[in-house]
Formats: sequence, structure tokens, C-alpha cells
Amino acid sequence: MKQEKTILQEVLDRGFSRRDFLKMCTALAATLGLDYSQTNKVVNAMETKKRVPVIWLQMQDCTGCSESFIRSSQPKTESVLLEMISLEYSEVLSAPSGHYAEKSIKDVMEKYKGEYIVVVEGSIPSNDIYLMIAGKSARKELEHVCENAAAVLAYGSCSSWGGVAAAKPNPTGAVPVTDIIKNKPVIVVPGCPPIAEVMTGVIAHYVTFGVLPELDHLGRPKAFYRHRIHDKCNRRAYFDAGLFVENFDDEGSKQGYCLYKVGCKGPTTYNSCAEMRWNGGVSYPIQSGNPCIGCSEKDFWDNGPFFTRVAKIPGTQTTINPDVVGAAVVGATIAGVAAHGALTALDKKKKESKDK
Ligand code: SF4
Repeated sequence: MKQEKTILQEVLDRGFSRRDFLKMCTALAATLGLDYSQTNKVVNAMETKKRVPVIWLQMQDCTGCSESFIRSSQPKTESVLLEMISLEYSEVLSAPSGHYAEKSIKDVMEKYKGEYIVVVEGSIPSNDIYLMIAGKSARKELEHVCENAAAVLAYGSCSSWGGVAAAKPNPTGAVPVTDIIKNKPVIVVPGCPPIAEVMTGVIAHYVTFGVLPELDHLGRPKAFYRHRIHDKCNRRAYFDAGLFVENFDDEGSKQGYCLYKVGCKGPTTYNSCAEMRWNGGVSYPIQSGNPCIGCSEKDFWDNGPFFTRVAKIPGTQTTINPDVVGAAVVGATIAGVAAHGALTALDKKKKESKDK
């Protein structure tokens, strides 16, 4: 069971050429945000490193995160699954089931002590009766599987923050992974679901550099969560110009105006949707005409309802509203958003009075 072959050897053994291998490395380098001249680092890592064993646990989840993951396009999931990682246990993707699947977990824990990664999808109920896995409570299973792990990836908003199961009144007492696992590095990859390439990017970083990527104060990989959706949004020019969709079927909607007034949470949401987009970079919700619902932010269900304008910055008394000039704002970011709104609203009003 022990992986002896390097990733390059695995690739060649599967019938791919060295050219295919170099293409994969170039795609990985782009996902990691490395410039072209640094592709060699990825090539060197893949030529010398072995695949990373992964145990993928599913807790209180809808399997949306797995669905998103298997649609990764850069690198393609088959590249990640077959060449970079060795997926030893997954309730959705593993071939074995029952006792055989349980044996896979045991084998990995013994043979890859301190080397394997645990991916967790879904929140964990505080009350044990709500989720049992192979006769053990979800909490005990998580603690047990993480015992010998190198790191834990909380994949999706449920495992990162509690998600929909933790929304009021939180009947199962759902908690995120970080409430339970305190003695291992936990990387938080929120989103409902997260962007597949973010997950593959985190794994690729670990394989390439042998260390976890740099994280922000909430434990998210900085490379993918450093910008607000609003900062990179394709409709941002309309926000700055004070041109908003007022109703989903109005003329502004047809023109692709800013969705802020119909509830877009882009100004308060940190994620890579506007940069990486979905389905191989084809589109993302705002581009398709749907306001951002802030699914990667803490308590996003309770921050709703969706499609109503952001009344307050979550966790503060601060309002952001482009109709209200000079609203109280906190911090440079929020001040920037409000100032944009204020100035553009003023410009618009001036223009309207001139036109009259
Ligand atoms: S409010 Fe939403 S739609 Fe408008 S620019 Fe910001 S992120 Fe884009």
C-alpha cells in the first residue's frame, strides 16, 4: 500500500507522455498563482514527490462539495485523484464499502502516520445521536481519523463555519471542524460549495512545496480569499457609475447593471468566484444575473434573507447603502464602498437635474 513511485512515475505509468506531464505542471503553476518562470518548481516537486494519501469524511452535508470537486478543470480532477493524491477513503468516490472501507481508514492511519490529509465535508453535530458512522458518533470518528493526520482541510461552508445545519435554531448543535480539532493545522476552504480549483490548488501547494499555503486570520488560504467579490466583479463599473438593477426583469437587468440593490452580497464576501469563475472559468453567479448570496461568509444563512439589500456589515452596526450619502462607515474598505456609492449617486442626481 505504501506509495513508492513519484508523481511523475505514476503519470508515465498511466500512459501519459512527458509532454502531458509538463502541461499538467504548467496548469498547476497557474492555479497556484506562480508565474511561468516558476513552473520548474512544480516540475521538480512532481518528479521527486510521492502522492499524498487523503481520507475524505462526510458529516452533515449535501455532497455538493464533492460534486464541485469532481468538476475541477484546472487541474482536472482525474489529474488530482490519480496523480497528485491517493484518495484512500471517500464515501462517494471509493470503490470499497462497509468493513472494507473501514479497513482502508485503519490502513492509512497506520501506514501513513503524520503524512495523510483529512478532508472534511459537512458540519459535526454536538449531539451524537444525529450522525453515526460505522457505529461511532461523527465527533468521535473525526477525532479518531485526525489523530495521525498531517493536516485537516475543512472543505465547504458547513465544515468551515457550521453552514446550513448550524443556521438558527441549529437543531443538531452543528459545529465547524475547528471547534473539535485543536491539535492539527486546519485549513478552512469555505463556500457553498467551494470552487473546485481552490481545493485542488491547496493540495497542489502542499505537494509542491511540502508546506501548507499561507492562511489569513480565519484560517483561509490567502491566495484564494484575499479579495472581495466586489473588488473583481465584472459589474463593478456599473456600481461605480451608480447604475443598478432595481428589479430582476427591468431594463437595467437586461443591460447587466450592478446587482447591489437586488441583494448582492459581493461587497462583504471574500472569495475567488469573480477571478477564477466556475465550470472551467465559464461564468459565476453574478455574471449569470444572480446576486452573490455570500455563501463563503460565516453564518450566511442567518445573514439572509437572500435577495434583500445588505443592511449591515455582519457583526457590526455599519450600514452600506449607495442611496445614503455620508452613512457611517467603519474601516477603509467600507469607506471606499460607501464613498463610491455616494459620489456616483451625487453625480447621477446632478446629471438628472441638468437634464431637467
Ligand atoms: S454589488 Fe455585487 S454586482 Fe455590484 S459590483 Fe459589487 S459584487 Fe458586483
